[in-house]
Amino acid sequence: MTRVQLQLRCAGCAVTVEPTDSGANAPWQCPNVKRAPNVDHVLQWDPVSAGVTEWPTDESLNPFIRYRTLQHNYWLGRSLGGTDADHVALVERLDEAIANVDTYSNGFRVTPLVSAEAATEALGVDVWTKRDTANVAGSHKARHLMGLLLHLEVRRISNRTPLAIASCGNAALAAATLAKAGRRQIQVHIPSGADAWVVERLRLLGASLTECPRLATDPSGDPCIHRFHEAVARGALPFAVQGPENGLTIDGGATLGHELADQLAMLGGTIGDVPDRLFVQVGGGALGTATMRGLRDALALGVIPALPRLHTVQSEGAAPLERAWRKVTLRALTSLGHADLADDGDDAIANALVDQSARAAVDEAFLHALTHRSQYMWPWEDEPISIATGILDDETYDWFTLVRAMITTGGWPIVATERALERANQLACSGENPADADETGTASLAGAVMLHEAGMMNEDERIVSLITGVRRN
Ligand SMILES: [Zn+2]
Repeated sequence: MTRVQLQLRCAGCAVTVEPTDSGANAPWQCPNVKRAPNVDHVLQWDPVSAGVTEWPTDESLNPFIRYRTLQHNYWLGRSLGGTDADHVALVERLDEAIANVDTYSNGFRVTPLVSAEAATEALGVDVWTKRDTANVAGSHKARHLMGLLLHLEVRRISNRTPLAIASCGNAALAAATLAKAGRRQIQVHIPSGADAWVVERLRLLGASLTECPRLATDPSGDPCIHRFHEAVARGALPFAVQGPENGLTIDGGATLGHELADQLAMLGGTIGDVPDRLFVQVGGGALGTATMRGLRDALALGVIPALPRLHTVQSEGAAPLERAWRKVTLRALTSLGHADLADDGDDAIANALVDQSARAAVDEAFLHALTHRSQYMWPWEDEPISIATGILDDETYDWFTLVRAMITTGGWPIVATERALERANQLACSGENPADADETGTASLAGAVMLHEAGMMNEDERIVSLITGVRRN
């Protein structure tokens, strides 16, 4: 058996953690979070650094079987004495239970990469959409949580230990669906005035709901997250889709990037055909972070020859990631003696910093950002409002990997107007083979709408946009 390292490493302080540690919050969260609060602590693992040397060739349609050798939970199970067949059987058993519970899917299946004809015609570039709307619970969120559920199962963590999450949207629905399928209790922390239909659906799935109004004693930030932290402090397991709360959540989400890499390789006919740009909507940031992890695995193992330019997309209602990118890039430009460039277009900033000559200044800015988090990322001050309600997180929890990925691929963040978000939804949900997604689900495409209107894309470009989040009642 290949020897694969299972230690997790904190991206912020470099401490390593064993995956079977059972101390407070282990192995989900860096043990130094309280000791060094201004460091961006996120526990990380990636298969290639850990010793995986081959891209998987399994042809299962279930991504958790097909890409299992790129998953931490797989190697953890093997290290605990399970066989390859045991792991496949575990995934199949859980998947059958999920299919019985879920009203949106028949369990996990590789989701399609679809040519978006209406968008191609309107934007004048070759538009492809990776559609996760037919995934478990109607979005990509269940991917993140399936990785965690598999971790709990291979470690045989008792189902009497409750799970906890803060969300009242796609993440909560995914968490409650997987918890029910895994016969585990879940505490869902929801805002006051949460959508009645979602609340009803969560109740039907057997979730225990806690409404979280903002308390006078609360610090800034989302009160649902504060109550979630209290539940975790009382012993609940963080069944969360934010890397800083549970670093392993990125691992399951990476299957989306693994699928996309294989699909891009097929699309081009030969390797060498990477899309010019990848657009990803950003709320908490785990979707983009996990997708880039998956694509980086594919790059390292020779499936794709390069990464596309990454464009994150937020709404004008809340854009803390764009603010962080601006601060990191300003620091790098200043040390290069080009602070004046910060007033030029974002493409000029991106082009200056992706150049090899900027490498040292960029690395210094990354290190500074990782160790001075509050100067780059803090909760959005205004009450966030947008038609894309699912990307209104007042903080981009998984921000650093996205800022780094944008700068190193020559991409930049896009703040979409409400009009662009509406137009993107119309484009994605019309034409032949329309998507069935809400404005959050198609928000990535609003980034392409904005670039098209600014005349910043060439007509020979091929772009990919992630569509995730089915339109519900
Ligand atoms: Zn740390």
